[in-house]
Amino acid sequence: MALRRAKRPEHPTPPGGAAVELTGVRRQYGRGAGAVHALRGIDLTLPRGSFTAVMGPSGSGKSTFLQCAAGLDRPTAGSVRLGGTEIGGMSENRLTELRRSRLGFVFQAFNLLPSLTVEQNVLLPMRLAGQRPDRRRAAEVLTQVGLGDKGARRPSELSGGQQQRVALARALVTRPDVVFADEPTGALDTTTAAEVLTLLRGAVDSLNATVVMVTHDPVAAGYADRVLFLADGAIADTLPRSSPARIADRMRALTAPGATPATAYAGAAA
Ligand code: ADP
Repeated sequence: MALRRAKRPEHPTPPGGAAVELTGVRRQYGRGAGAVHALRGIDLTLPRGSFTAVMGPSGSGKSTFLQCAAGLDRPTAGSVRLGGTEIGGMSENRLTELRRSRLGFVFQAFNLLPSLTVEQNVLLPMRLAGQRPDRRRAAEVLTQVGLGDKGARRPSELSGGQQQRVALARALVTRPDVVFADEPTGALDTTTAAEVLTLLRGAVDSLNATVVMVTHDPVAAGYADRVLFLADGAIADTLPRSSPARIADRMRALTAPGATPATAYAGAAA
């Protein structure tokens, strides 16, 4: 199959500019009395080179938020800009192209292709984005995640933590505008999770990557520069970089019986 040549991004993000901007983002499922308001108007700017954790009780809208912010789902209303590009009116094809060339993804279940080598897995986003697979770049990102000698292995020959590091290398290989991570440490033990989180933190600090991570784990959220708490489809609270204990306290305030976004916020802000 012939691969198309890579297109230059039309609006590359200026250094220091916003990597992600959501304005008035709403997502409704269904209509009328049975409608579910999964997102009720999210306004958010994530600067380039920032690490944001998104927390919230089950059903608060975390997945919907991540899907809308990453162009995997379309908001019912509002605007999403990625790396300075408004994605609202984009065709599916252009959106897919943008996701492949300018976004990276890390999932709880690693999602590596078992029949490919580690190096081939890391090169996959480049191939899908129509870029020439750059083996030196693959070796560079694999070295960054401590797997410089594992390129010829199959995923099944690696531990869970190593597989997630391959997934991280794959997410970083195209130098994306944003890396979206969905419970990236959910399947890992504490020690291995800490290694992966340290690498994510390092990608932000050393490579100026922008990371948005959905997590249930206050320890994981403690690696982020900012923690957003979603409740009932709205941002109920935010914290700057904080200890896991402080983050867990805020989560408890949100999930306490009878807590609404407003009361949780009032309690947490005290
Ligand atoms: P979280 O990730 O925080 O658990 P979700 O974003 O999955 O929350 O869901 C937010 C709300 O939207 C929930 O009430 C959920 O039931 C609802 N929802 C999510 N996806 C759909 C869908 N495809 N159809 C109908 N309702 C949905």
